[in-house]
Amino acid sequence: MSTVPHAPGRFGPYGGRYVSETLMPALEELTAAWEHFSRDPTFRTELDRLLRDYVGRPTPLTEAARLADHVARVQGRRLRVFLKREDLCHTGSHKLNNCVGQILLAQRLGKKRIIAETGAGQHGVATATVCALFGLPCEIYMGAVDVERQSLNVFRMQLLGARVHSVKDGTATLKDAMNEAMRDWVTNVSTTHYVLGTVAGPHPYPTMVGELQSVIGSEARAQIQSATGRLPDACLACVGGGSNAMGLFRGFLNDSQVRLFGVEAAGEGLHTTHHAATLGKGRPGVLHGTRSYVLCDDDGQIAEAHSVSAGLDYPGVGPEHSYLRDTGRAEYLAATDQEALDACRLLARCEGIIPALESAHAVAALGRVAERLPDGASVIINVSGRGDKDMGTIAKYFGAEVSS
Ligand SMILES: *Cc1c(COP(=O)(O)O)cnc(C)c1O
Repeated sequence: MSTVPHAPGRFGPYGGRYVSETLMPALEELTAAWEHFSRDPTFRTELDRLLRDYVGRPTPLTEAARLADHVARVQGRRLRVFLKREDLCHTGSHKLNNCVGQILLAQRLGKKRIIAETGAGQHGVATATVCALFGLPCEIYMGAVDVERQSLNVFRMQLLGARVHSVKDGTATLKDAMNEAMRDWVTNVSTTHYVLGTVAGPHPYPTMVGELQSVIGSEARAQIQSATGRLPDACLACVGGGSNAMGLFRGFLNDSQVRLFGVEAAGEGLHTTHHAATLGKGRPGVLHGTRSYVLCDDDGQIAEAHSVSAGLDYPGVGPEHSYLRDTGRAEYLAATDQEALDACRLLARCEGIIPALESAHAVAALGRVAERLPDGASVIINVSGRGDKDMGTIAKYFGAEVSS
């Protein structure tokens, strides 16, 4: 299977550009710039240097032997498990891989003002970080509810010099922040670049962000080959908008023997309305300028997503995942809040690594993936981020249990 979209920005029936006419020139300009500079050796050198010296790449691939022992005990399946350590990136997750690429592109385009949307605040922090590094003014749109819930990240962004706009429309969460960022972009498109944080949105974002995150998969591919002498049997990553998963998957898309598993947030359970399993429970529709699976209510309105991890709490998903789902190239599972919290504690205790609650969803699905693999299989789990940001939430769930 080719990683190249069928038509520009199309992944089968998904993707495209569903935006107002005013944005078309900016999207075309951005597409042309990306096509040009992603192949430009000077741009690549500068990007690689930032990824190495600033982000901290390559991130390690760590073998998780005690986690594998645990699976062998519980599941009766011997595996080798490897963790791709995006938790060790500067700012604590994979998000900076995308931001450094887009800021270099904005610089080439002569755009002097940067805007971004954020849900939990992780993408806002990553964007504010690169804006500080490049001395560019930064404005972040964030739902008022999230501003309240994630006050520490709001302060981080402000400390880095960004202005945070609290969005009170709709449910005052991520999808409303994205709408507001799009509105700002329409108004200020000649001076402004919009750093979109995942593989969603109108073309070229899904392709561009996927390529910028593909560094995860290309490193992991080389690392697992040097560790085991062969390709892995499966790759496992959590899916919010889908950028960390797409980044890992891209290293293996053409290797049909490598099974790809995305894990969505099942929240309080797929039988409830409190989840974020867009690919599991949604249907095709248009959200934020792209055609993909979306979560809707019975009236066809975009539904509110729910997950204990704010980074998975999005009612859409990148269009390439919709295509990979329909074609069966990737398989999508879901883990509940409780399963993710348990997996977070499991990884902490087996390996001394406290993952972000998003990443813990991928760990939570390991047992179910193991059942589908032969004995002796090797698996890569993308640890998309570290858990420091989630300590408040985790402490609330486990309370005294952990300290006893
Ligand atoms: C934002 C975030 C995610 C979800 O975003 P994707 O685009 O699906 O990768 C996952 N993990 C962490 C740590 C995040 O910060």
